[in-house]
Amino acid sequence: MQRLGHQFIDNRWVPSRGERRLSVMNPYREEVIAEVTAGHPGDVDAAVAAARRALPAWRALSGTERAVYLKGFADGLARRRDELVRLSSTNNGKVLAEAGIDLDDAIACYRYYAGQARVLDQRQDRLVELEMEGVEARCYHDPVGVVGLITPWNFPLVTSAWKLAPALAAGCTAVLKPSEVTPLPERVLAEIALEIGLPAGVFNLLLGDGEGIGAPLAAHQAIDKVSFTGSNRVGEAVMRAAAERTADVSLELGGKSPILVLDDADPDQAADWVMAGLYFNAGQICSATSRLIVHDAIAEPLYDALAARIDALTLGDPLEEATDMGPLTSARQRESVQTYLTIAEQEGLKAVRDVGHRELPERGYFVAPTLYRDVPVQSRLWREEIFGPVLCARGVAGEAEAIELANDSDFGLAATVVSGDGERARRVGRQLQAGSIWFNSEQLVLPETGWGGFKRSGIGRELGPWGLSAYLAVKHLVGPV
Ligand code: NAD
Repeated sequence: MQRLGHQFIDNRWVPSRGERRLSVMNPYREEVIAEVTAGHPGDVDAAVAAARRALPAWRALSGTERAVYLKGFADGLARRRDELVRLSSTNNGKVLAEAGIDLDDAIACYRYYAGQARVLDQRQDRLVELEMEGVEARCYHDPVGVVGLITPWNFPLVTSAWKLAPALAAGCTAVLKPSEVTPLPERVLAEIALEIGLPAGVFNLLLGDGEGIGAPLAAHQAIDKVSFTGSNRVGEAVMRAAAERTADVSLELGGKSPILVLDDADPDQAADWVMAGLYFNAGQICSATSRLIVHDAIAEPLYDALAARIDALTLGDPLEEATDMGPLTSARQRESVQTYLTIAEQEGLKAVRDVGHRELPERGYFVAPTLYRDVPVQSRLWREEIFGPVLCARGVAGEAEAIELANDSDFGLAATVVSGDGERARRVGRQLQAGSIWFNSEQLVLPETGWGGFKRSGIGRELGPWGLSAYLAVKHLVGPV
């Protein structure tokens, strides 16, 4: 068992000042695989001070110079791909194929922002078109400064890449806090930083929980911006802490995304996309399309197709190639999902596949993949993020009703529209209140397109040029020609 009592600060592994220790689990074996420090506010002080010292020299580099390091992160991850896929799968419980997709996503993100760092150079010193004569105005994009990056456990290496890559590209220096549930994969970033000769203090990694690291980081006076991905409860606390010093925040929070299957859709094809949108990562996806809105005309064939696919899912060891769905990532998450399954029973929800439809593997934090139909809109299962393999479905009589039902949510992170007619699917998609809307597709996540939510799903956008802008402050120099 690994004992991880050190923090990565100023390019050195230094002992954490924290005395509390946390167990890191293998959620399939239900075994402790590491013991990590819970962190300490003193660790945050040291890391923030290092990041602040490193800022002037780092921000003074051109984007093109910083791009070399970003490419170094991408290459470093790519070199360790197999090892990291296994580590991520072991710590998170996701199957190997999904861990591979994650890693490729993270690598693509570092490469993309290497390109964006170079583009940033061309965006500097731009003359602004003015109505007034005899005056010139020039536009610049400065890094916001020292940033605190806080990530969840469902997509190790990905959620951190979406923050760290644009932050470094912009010229910010960073303190990253991965989730205490899956702290192992992110440690590789420190190894790569040393390998590629990243200047000391530009990237600092703090292991720990919300109390030891997260809250002190969000509240730190010398942190200029916090970018947070996680639950609404904690995101709101982060925002309150930032408000105390008028600091900027980006928030990527929860979702309860819909998938609309229109009457002209092919039920078999639609079933594949419904499955991929919900049972991937055992449903622990922020963009999970967990509300299935299906036209009454094809509801029955779609439910049949889904039932067959659910029955065919193999649950088991995520390290086995044959496994389709691993355990949930933590005992706590399993408990949280089970609470909703109990509510489903109490509410007498009608199940296409309920929690008892299959035997679960003997060990591991498994929950059976479930599908409820005709779920009332006031049910907590319909309205709240469950973050597990629980799909809720409702029939509708037409397109307008489908759109209205889709938008009737506190959240607005993602959506999918399935139709036999691509033009129609796009038209319906345009009317949905969400940041990412797929039509006739699985959930493609592309570094060039933005990610983020409407309504309570968050504030700001990651990925694409917007992801870079999140770490830039616009500056104008105005004077006589
Ligand atoms: P969480 O909010 O419990 O934890 C997220 C991170 O915040 C962890 O690193 C945690 O240690 C830290 N933290 C805890 N208390 C803190 C505090 N008081 N101050 C600062 N940081 C603190 O979320 P989770 O359970 O790790 O992740 C699941 C949630 O993340 C879900 O709601 C999911 O929808 C959301 N999520 C959103 C996206 C997105 O892109 N919108 C992506 C992935 C996950």
